[in-house]
Amino acid sequence: MTLILRDKASLRAWRAALPGGQRLGFVPTMGALHDGHMSLMAQSRAEADVTIASIFVNPLQFGPNEDLSRYPRPIEADIAKLEAAGVDALFLPSVEDMYPAGASTLVEETLVSGPLCGAERPGHFRGVTTVVLKLFNLVQPHVAIFGQKDAQQCAVIERMVRDLDVPVDIRRGAIVREADGLALSSRNVYLSPDDRAAAPLIHQSLKAVAAAYEGGETDTARLSAIGMAILAQSERISPQYWEVRDPESLGAITTVGARGALLAVAAKLGTTRLIDNLVIGGQG
Ligand code: AMP
Repeated sequence: MTLILRDKASLRAWRAALPGGQRLGFVPTMGALHDGHMSLMAQSRAEADVTIASIFVNPLQFGPNEDLSRYPRPIEADIAKLEAAGVDALFLPSVEDMYPAGASTLVEETLVSGPLCGAERPGHFRGVTTVVLKLFNLVQPHVAIFGQKDAQQCAVIERMVRDLDVPVDIRRGAIVREADGLALSSRNVYLSPDDRAAAPLIHQSLKAVAAAYEGGETDTARLSAIGMAILAQSERISPQYWEVRDPESLGAITTVGARGALLAVAAKLGTTRLIDNLVIGGQG
C-alpha cells in the first residue's frame, strides 16, 4: 500500500519514524503520471530502500498566462499507478500547507536558470528551486531522481544542491518517449490530433542535428539552423528556441568541442508548449 501523506505534519512524522539505516529515494512530480514518471520511480526503487513520490502542482513555477488552472489532476489514477509500482509513500500537500500566507522567501539560482526556458518563462526556475528546496527539507531524502526530459531543471537543481550544500544525491533518469519519438509529457493530452501528428518533428529535429554532428558539423549556428529547418516542415509548430549549449552551464558556445553539447528545443503547438533535448558528444 502506498501511504498517502496529505500535509507537512504527517510527512514529518513519517520521516522521523523511518529507521536510520534505510536509504530514502524521492521523486518529485506535478502528477498526471505517465511512463516517464514511472521510470523515475523504478530508478528510485532500484537505488533506495524506501521510495516517496510527491504530487504538487506548484503555483510558483507557473507564469500568469500559463496552464496552472487547467493542468491535469487525475489523482485517483495517479495513486493507482504509484500503488502498482510499489512506491511506499506519496506526499500530496495542499497549496495552503506548502505556502502559508505571509511566506516571503524565494530560492534563486542565477546562472543556469537564465537562458532557454528561463528566458521564455521569467520566474519559472525560481518557483522550481523554491519548491524543490522546501521538499528536500521536508522529505530529507538521500537520493532524488529528476528526468533528463527537463535538462535545464536538472542542471539548475544540481547547482542549487552544490551551492547551498544540500545533503542529497541528484540522479537523472533517461527520457521516455512514445514509439514515434515524442517525449512523454503530462501536457501531451492538450494536443489536438493534427498537432499530435506534427509533434514527432521535434524529436526528429534533434536526431537530424545529432546526425549532422556525427557527420562532422560542429558549428552551433549551422546545427541550430538544421534543427529549425526540420521544425519548419509543419506550420503547426512555432519554435521558441532551438539551441546548442554547453552541457553543464548551458552557456552559449560557437562550436561543439570535447565537452559535447546539449541540444535543446522548445516549441508551441497551438497553445501547448513542448520541450525536448538530446546530449551529443562529450562523455554521454
Ligand atoms: P513533472 O510532473 O512534469 O514536473 O515531472 C516530474 C519529473 O518527471 C521531472 O523530473 C521530469 O523531468 C520527469 N519527466 C517528465 N517527463 C519525462 C519523460 N518523458 N521521461 C523521463 N522523465 C520525465
